[in-house]
This record gives sequence, C-alpha cells and structure tokens, in this order.
Amino acid sequence: MSIPNAATSEHSGKPSNKSSAQSSNDEPSLSANIQLENQYCANNYSPLPVVLSRGEGVYVWDENDKRYLDMMSAYSAVSHGHCNPRLVKVLQEQAQSLGVVSRAFYSNVLGEFLEKACSMIGYQKALPMNTGSEAVETALKVARKWAYQKKGVADNKAEIIICENNFHGRTIAIVGMSSEAQYRDGFGPFPDGLKIIPYADVSALESAITENTAAFLVEPIQGEGGILIPPKGYLAECARLCKKHNVLLICDEVQTGLGRTGKLLASEHDGVKPDGVILGKALGGGLLPVSLFLADDEVMNVLTPGDHGSTFGGYPLAARVGLEALRIIEEDQLTENSAKLGGYFLEQLKAINHPCIKTVRGQGLFIGIELDPAVISARKFCEMLMDEGVLSKDTHHIVARFAPPLMINKEQLDWAIAKIALTFERLGE
Ligand SMILES: *Cc1c(COP(=O)(O)O)cnc(C)c1O
Repeated sequence: MSIPNAATSEHSGKPSNKSSAQSSNDEPSLSANIQLENQYCANNYSPLPVVLSRGEGVYVWDENDKRYLDMMSAYSAVSHGHCNPRLVKVLQEQAQSLGVVSRAFYSNVLGEFLEKACSMIGYQKALPMNTGSEAVETALKVARKWAYQKKGVADNKAEIIICENNFHGRTIAIVGMSSEAQYRDGFGPFPDGLKIIPYADVSALESAITENTAAFLVEPIQGEGGILIPPKGYLAECARLCKKHNVLLICDEVQTGLGRTGKLLASEHDGVKPDGVILGKALGGGLLPVSLFLADDEVMNVLTPGDHGSTFGGYPLAARVGLEALRIIEEDQLTENSAKLGGYFLEQLKAINHPCIKTVRGQGLFIGIELDPAVISARKFCEMLMDEGVLSKDTHHIVARFAPPLMINKEQLDWAIAKIALTFERLGE
C-alpha cells in the first residue's frame, strides 16, 4: 500500500500545516499513521499530532513509546483508567460467552446492569442506548411523549428548553438545539419546538416556560462549553420552577456524571434530583459506548414496545461492562477520589501565577484553565503540554481542560501539576 502524501511530507521533510507541533521537535516527517488517517478519515476533527498505541491506567504511550499522562480521558470516558484490568476481564469473558442478541430477546446480563444503575443513581427505570447523543435523543422523545400523554400538551406543540452554549451531541435534533454556529451551519432544517435560553439564568427559564413546555434539558456544568459552572443554587431554582410548572427537569450528565465532579451526579451539588438523567461516556468503562436515560415509571412508562429502540442498546457485552464500571466506581471510591484530588488540583492550579491565565475553574477532577487568546491559543498551549508528556485538549479555543482518569493518585497528579507549571514558565512573561 502506498503512503499517501509521501512526497509532500515524508520525503521532502516539509511538515504539512496539520502538524505545527512537529516544529517543536526535530522530526520533520509525519507519522505514516497520521498520513493514513488524514487521507482516509473524513476531515471532521483536528487531532493533536500524536499517535497513541497503548494505554494503562492514567498513561498512554505513542507509537515511539513516549509516555503521556492522559488529562483528557477521551472527553471523560476513561474515568476507570485505560484498559482497566477488571473491565478488560469481564469484557473478554462476556465476549467468549455472548456478545449481541438485540432486544428481540432477553439476556442474562441486562436486567442486572439496569438494576444496579437504577439503584445506584436512584430511578425506577433505565433505557439503554450506546452513545451519549442517542441517550439525549431518547430523553427528548420520552419528554415529548410524556407532554402529550401526561401533561396534555396539544399534538405537535411540545417544546423543549435548552441553554445557550450547550453540548448535547451531534445528531440533527441535537445540533438544532445548539447555539454554536459551526455545529449548525449547513445541517438544517432542524426540528421545531426547541427554545434556547441563556445558561445560569433562572428568570430566563421562568419566562421561557409555557403550557407547552415538556422539558428543560440542561448540563449541571457545561463541559464542552468550557467547563462553565453556574452559581450555587441555580439548578435548585430550576428544579423548583420546573416542578411548579409541571415541566420535566432533565440533566445531561453524560460528561459530569459518575463521579467526574466529585459527586456521583453533578446535580447533587445543588441537592437536586432531576426527573430524568442522561449518562454515557464513563459508563462504558473506557472500553465501549454505553449510555442510559434514567427516569421514574411516571415518565418512562409512556413508552410502549416499538416506540423506540437500538439494535445494540443494552447488548450483553455493554451491559456486562457497564455493570462492572458502576461497581468499580463504588468499590474503588472514584467519586471520593475525584472530590479529594480535584480540590487539591484546583488549588494547585490557582496557585500558578501567569499573565495569560484568565481564570481557573472546576469541580472535582473536571477543571479548565481559561487562557488569554491574545497571548496564547488553548490549542498551542495543549501542544506545548503534549511535548511535556501531558495530554489535554482545548475547548472553545480558550480553555485547556484537565479531566484525568478518576483513579489517578496524588503522585501522578503532582507530576502533571509540575509539568503544567513548567509549561507556563516556558511561555515566559
Ligand atoms: C459527549 C457528550 C454528549 C454526546 O455523547 P456522544 O457519546 O459523543 O454522542 C452529550 N452530552 C454531553 C454533556 C457530552 O459531554
């Protein structure tokens, strides 16, 4: 097989513009793997120029065997650490026993997984899907049907309220809810009945609610939006308003859930129990896409056989891994570790003084440093960090995110903190 673009980047030694970080070391040529991906993969991401080939715990290694501490954790999907041995073991065992049956039949694993999820998270029912986006779509469908059947909203009038700067995924309905021009442009038309209000603004919610409002869908902390933390009490006020007006409060905890912010659910920080919760990412233990929409019978029972589904949703492999992922979160006290080390991490980052730091914010092991774009882009900063052996990714060009696996220990964290501090020193004043 010929190597694409070999003449331009491999042989001439001229790095393409996709590999600006290459200029910071002495290797001018692009990895063959990067070339292959650039040639054959749709151009919908712009990865940092590192080719990962192995992972263990908080670490990943590139194809040249350079080690990195992963502060990205696949957008918080790797809370249990890379290739967690307990999860790999149950994955292998289950794969040798039964993989996929579809929901046309029962399996001997799905019930146990959902029982665990429902008792741990505190709901009567769960609907298994695969990706976070699918679970968000599920929540939207259930909320609309609930509005027609239980609330008495007139046909095709149900409204969903969402917040500016949200991130709920990438399907058509979901990007129809986005306020981000790039997520929407070129992909319309979008479904009706989606109403965007400012985030962290209780009175905006109150004025947006009508008799047709089915649900308010919100992230307790806006992750992709730049780790934006609303003021204390915001979610509690939203919950009060939703209850008053018979509107479902649905929290998208795909990223903030399962211990990431130092509580099992981020909504607990405000003492709120939403009417519906969406989980994903870490639920798959860093091995598989596993997502859930959870709600009580009163809401979930609007669905009847044939209303909704997914070939893979809740398949035995995913159910077995999801079950073990939940057990590990409890048994290894990942939530407690996130709270404890997250607090320490935040303090240490706040102690770094550099003129290009605008703010440092976070909750648990979910932290963002907002940089002054006039001095350095978050992307460039992440590339510099990468050279030091710490992987992170910018969100919204101005925030560098730090979300290590929740099983990180203090020694590993201290190592990363030193590297982050060093990177700021390298930036100069
Ligand atoms: C990542 C994410 C999603 C989408 O999950 P996918 O698995 O990428 O479809 C939805 N909501 C939030 C808050 C997320 O962070």
